[in-house]
Amino acid sequence: RSGAQPGARPGVPAGGRALPAVLGADLEVPVRGGRLVPYANFDYAASAPCLAAAQEAVAAALPAYSSVHRGAGYASQLTTARYEQARHTVRAFAGARPGDAVVFTRNTTDATNLLARCLPEGTTVVVFDTEHHASLLPWPRAVRLAPPAFPGEAVRAADDALAGIEGPALLVVTAASNVTGELWPIAALAHIAHRHGARILVDAAQLAPHRGLNLAALDLDYVAFSGHKLYAPFGAGALIGRPDWLAAAEPYLRGGGASRDVAEADAPQWSEDPEQRHEAGTPNVLGAIALAAACEALSATGWTPLVRREERLLARLRAGLASVPGLRELSLWGPDHPRVGIVSFTLAGWTAREVAEALSAEYGIGVRDGRFCAHPFVRHLLGDGDCASGTGGAVRASIGLGTTEEHVDRLTAALRELAGRR
Ligand code: PLP
Repeated sequence: RSGAQPGARPGVPAGGRALPAVLGADLEVPVRGGRLVPYANFDYAASAPCLAAAQEAVAAALPAYSSVHRGAGYASQLTTARYEQARHTVRAFAGARPGDAVVFTRNTTDATNLLARCLPEGTTVVVFDTEHHASLLPWPRAVRLAPPAFPGEAVRAADDALAGIEGPALLVVTAASNVTGELWPIAALAHIAHRHGARILVDAAQLAPHRGLNLAALDLDYVAFSGHKLYAPFGAGALIGRPDWLAAAEPYLRGGGASRDVAEADAPQWSEDPEQRHEAGTPNVLGAIALAAACEALSATGWTPLVRREERLLARLRAGLASVPGLRELSLWGPDHPRVGIVSFTLAGWTAREVAEALSAEYGIGVRDGRFCAHPFVRHLLGDGDCASGTGGAVRASIGLGTTEEHVDRLTAALRELAGRR
C-alpha cells in the first residue's frame, strides 16, 4: 500500500520505477453465496480507475478555487493559472506543435462533435466503418470505407477515396481499436491525407492510455481523447490540433467566455482565440487539473516500462485465452498484428452477456460485453447472427495499470471452467 491514499497501491515496479498508483486496487466484491473476493477489473477500455495523483491534484485545488479567466481575486488568479497549466501539460503530453489549440471538452465524443461543427463549408469526411460511434456518427454524409483486410489496404482505400475529393477533406481514424486493440497505421494515413491536401483526425481514446502520443512527430492535424480512459475522473477530455478551422467556426456553445464583446445580443463578437471560443461557460477546471495530473504521472513513469509491462501481461492473457476450448479471439488483421491491452472474444455455447454475467457473479471479474459502440465493426467481425442487441456481440477484456498476473490467471481459469460446462 502507498500509505498516502487508502485503496491505492504502487503496483509492480516498472524498470525500477513504481507504477502510478491506481485507486480502488484493493476493492473487494461480493460473488454468489455472499463471499467477498478481490475485484479483478478487466474493463479499463471503458473507464480506467482514477490515479492517486489525479485525486491528489483535485484535493490540492479544492480549498481555493474560483471561476477562471474572469476574477481579479487571488483564488480566481490561482485557479486560472492551474487551468492554463493543465492545458500546457496536456499539450506536452500529446506532443502538440506550439501553435496547436488544446480545447478542453467533456470526452472524446464531445471532441469529435466539436470538430464536426468546425469543418469549413463543403468539407468531405472520409471514415472507416471500423470506428467507434464517437468517430463514426458525427458526420452523417461521410464517405464510408469498408473494413480493410490488411493495414496497407487501409492506406490504399484512404488514398483512393481522398483522390476523388475536391475541396477540403478530413480523414477520421482510430489509433487503436476499442474492439480488437489493434493499432492502425496512423502515420502512413496522415501522410496520404496530406498528399491530397486533406487533414486527419485521430481518435486516440484507446491509444492515449497505452502508448505515447506525438502529434508533431506523426504529423497529425487533430487528436481527441478522454480523461476517464486515461486514469482521470469522468468529465474532461480534449481536442488538440490546428487552430485555424476552430478559430473560424461558430462557437460550439454560445455564451460567456466565447464572446469578446456583445453590444447587440444578436451580433456578438466572438473571441478569436480558438480555445476560449469553444469553451463557453464555466469550464470543468477540476476535470482538466485531474486529467493533466494523470498525464504527468504517466509521462513521469515513461512509456517504455509501461508498454513492456503491458505487453508481458497481454501475452500471458492471450496465451491463457488460447488454452480455453471454444474461445475465439477477434481480430481484423490477424493475431500477430500489434495491439494495445484489449482483447475481445466469443465462447462457444455461451452468449457474450452470459459470459460477462457469470464472470462477475461467480468470480468477481469485471469485463464488458456487447458491441462496444462499434456496431458496424463488430457485425463485420461476427456476422449478423451473433450480433443481436442485448445478449449478442463479444466479451472484451482490457488491461491497465492495476492489472496483475494473478488477475490474468484468474480470468483464464474462470473461462476454462465456463467452457467445460457447455
Ligand atoms: N473512441 C474510442 C476508440 C473509444 O473506445 C471510446 C469509448 O469507448 C470513444 C471514442 C468515446 O469515448 P467517450 O465515451 O469518453 O466520449
